[in-house]
Amino acid sequence: MPHTYTLTKQGMLYPSFFNSMRHGVHQGLATSAREIQVRGETLTLTKDEPDLPEGAEVEVWVSRFFHCITLADKKAEDKARADHAAETRAREKQAIDEAKAQYTAPAESLIQQSPDKQALTKMLEHLFTERKAKHEVYSRFWRSADADKKHQSNIAYEQMCVINEAIVCLSRYMKGILAEKGLKIATAYPYSPNEGARSGHYSPGEYHAVILNLSGLFVGRLERSAGDALCKPADKFKWLEHNDKAYGDVTCRHCLKKMANLTNQKGFK
Ligand SMILES: [Zn+2]
Repeated sequence: MPHTYTLTKQGMLYPSFFNSMRHGVHQGLATSAREIQVRGETLTLTKDEPDLPEGAEVEVWVSRFFHCITLADKKAEDKARADHAAETRAREKQAIDEAKAQYTAPAESLIQQSPDKQALTKMLEHLFTERKAKHEVYSRFWRSADADKKHQSNIAYEQMCVINEAIVCLSRYMKGILAEKGLKIATAYPYSPNEGARSGHYSPGEYHAVILNLSGLFVGRLERSAGDALCKPADKFKWLEHNDKAYGDVTCRHCLKKMANLTNQKGFK
């Protein structure tokens, strides 16, 4: 903040002058190191105030006492604030670019290599672990009054979004592979009172993979009927409503792991 000088009126304080000063900010001039002129009157710095630069333009206002700041200080402050905002934006952009290189690019390049279920599972685990760590930072500081911590929280949020993109990338790839093998998957969002609003910060619920094949799914110990989610049967949810048009991408960690496992199946009925 620019330094705020406190001033007094020596001698008679005319009501008309005081009333004209009471509202808003008024332009004044430092006529000496200790005095300013405003609206034809002279105000004097209180004795513990530092000197004003002589000839400085000032803004004067009343708040119990008379106060002023120099326009030069105010401009320097505005510039510092603008510089800081630009720097913050640049740091956020850099963090997003780094996160893309760290998460999205490897996920995309993995897909190009026709990965087996182990490679898919490993990448998914990595992404979910990283996302959890980012979420912890985000939720720890999201309400912080400290600008640096708040900034850390914002960055972590942006990184989470990038990790989500990488997860969606794998999710779509696996859904495509499974569709080619005859497994039809829709997505479903389980509405529940707790979903999306844990302790106030953004904590979205997950989209589950729901089997559409009328014959269900029987692979090893995995038994699911049509309308069940891969991670658990529909009756284990409070409310699981799916859309046959497959809106949304599968984001449930457990459903995605099951999808990864199923990619090595020959085909589905
Ligand atoms: Zn699920």
